[in-house]
Amino acid sequence: MNYKIKAIKISIGECDLCGTCVGVCPADAIELKESSIIIIQSKCTKCQNCVWICPLSAIKIIEEKKNEK
Ligand code: SF4
Ligand code: SF4
Repeated sequence: MNYKIKAIKISIGECDLCGTCVGVCPADAIELKESSIIIIQSKCTKCQNCVWICPLSAIKIIEEKKNEK
């Protein structure tokens, strides 16, 4: 497959704020608060650790498709 990762995003509606992803992020890019969670895009290295560890599959890979506008 020919794609680049554009961003890693959390689908808030699918996330139960368990915090599992926070512990596996090597870049310290996931910020979990009382009722919200965000990925700080400027810190994220797109390693995908969080994507694979999330028990609810709430973290999505946003692809940047080539040859497509
Ligand atoms: S591991 Fe998944 S469900 Fe848990 S806080 Fe992270 S995104 Fe939300
Ligand atoms: S992709 Fe990697 S660096 Fe980015 S938020 Fe997830 S675990 Fe952290």
